[in-house]
Amino acid sequence: MSDPYSRLGVRRRINAAGALTRLGGAVMAPDVVEAMAAASRASVDIGELQDAASARIAEATGAEAGLVTTGAAAALTLAAAASIARWDVAKMASLPHGDFPRDILIPRTHRTGYAHALAASGARLIDIGHNDRGTGAGVRGLEAWEIEAALSPAVVAMAFSVNATSLADLPTAVAACRAAGIPLIVDAAAQLPPKENLKRFVAMGADLVAFSGGKALGGPQASGILAGRRDLVASALLQQLDMDVAPETWSPPKLVDRANLRGVPHHGIGRGFKAGKEEIVGLLTALDRFVKADDASNNARLEARLKAIAIELNGHKVTLVPASVTGRVPVLEIAVPEALAVSARLQRGDPPVHLSERHAARGVLTLDPQVLLPEHDAPLTAALRAAL
Ligand SMILES: *Cc1c(COP(=O)(O)O)cnc(C)c1O
Repeated sequence: MSDPYSRLGVRRRINAAGALTRLGGAVMAPDVVEAMAAASRASVDIGELQDAASARIAEATGAEAGLVTTGAAAALTLAAAASIARWDVAKMASLPHGDFPRDILIPRTHRTGYAHALAASGARLIDIGHNDRGTGAGVRGLEAWEIEAALSPAVVAMAFSVNATSLADLPTAVAACRAAGIPLIVDAAAQLPPKENLKRFVAMGADLVAFSGGKALGGPQASGILAGRRDLVASALLQQLDMDVAPETWSPPKLVDRANLRGVPHHGIGRGFKAGKEEIVGLLTALDRFVKADDASNNARLEARLKAIAIELNGHKVTLVPASVTGRVPVLEIAVPEALAVSARLQRGDPPVHLSERHAARGVLTLDPQVLLPEHDAPLTAALRAAL
């Protein structure tokens, strides 16, 4: 097969920055590619396929149900829409507008750039809490009373961005949401690996959890997972499916209990991010691979590659940070004054080279090998030696 990128005049890049969306996310394994190609050559009922996906996702996450979405951001929009509309087809038809409760609580320190995905559903985000631990200003985290004080009949859910720091506050949020009878939506998009996190947040009591499929999971770039409570996942699915159906002949997915619906919904807020059969099958194939993978030996292999690169960079201040410290994959931290200037120079190179800029403010460029192809180790090392 000819190279589609060279035909288009688009350069291939050396990616040592991680599975970033703007660089194309994950690089898929051959069996995932083959499964997608095979899936593309047939007609299937997408609702039936999502039912099968739900069973697989439930098994992998410990949740009651699951849905393949077009990314974690889409999963957040659908999670918010499900929390607002539940089984109400009139509310589904009305979103993102509507004269009904649609407030979602969000701790101030959890309001990332991805909060827009929640708001896109029509939810009104209500900022709560101080969280001095999260900002580094002090010792206190999110507190139950901060959630309770913000509750009102207009509140339909609470959102939570989980990471190593915020995790300590998750039990507080779970308990407060349980007591209030509202779902807790957890953004865990980039919290894989470790694979234990597929189950962790559900086990801790989150009602809905969003994961990216196109980052560490190694699925199609435009895929993701929404895992959680069956009724909420069903509402999310209804708002994502193609609903150009005759009520007389519509056979809903098994996830959907038609007795709960007073009519057949129209196209919902999620119709613009439909998951195709290729994404659904590709995501499930990648999920299966990810669950079965041997993290310890993968990390040992990555660490050996990083050590070899570090030796070639002798004379420069490089630190290997093992997976046990990063919580995901091992990385190489390279101390460089003017980190962003060096990064810009690397990106202008031929081939362009990308390192992670997440610690650039403290003079560090991070070599993240998550999606770095082994054949790129040598040209990457050469580019680094030249740029440093
Ligand atoms: C990447 C990311 C998302 C969006 O995930 P997509 O799968 O690209 O839609 C959402 N939240 C966080 C914290 C992320 O890192």
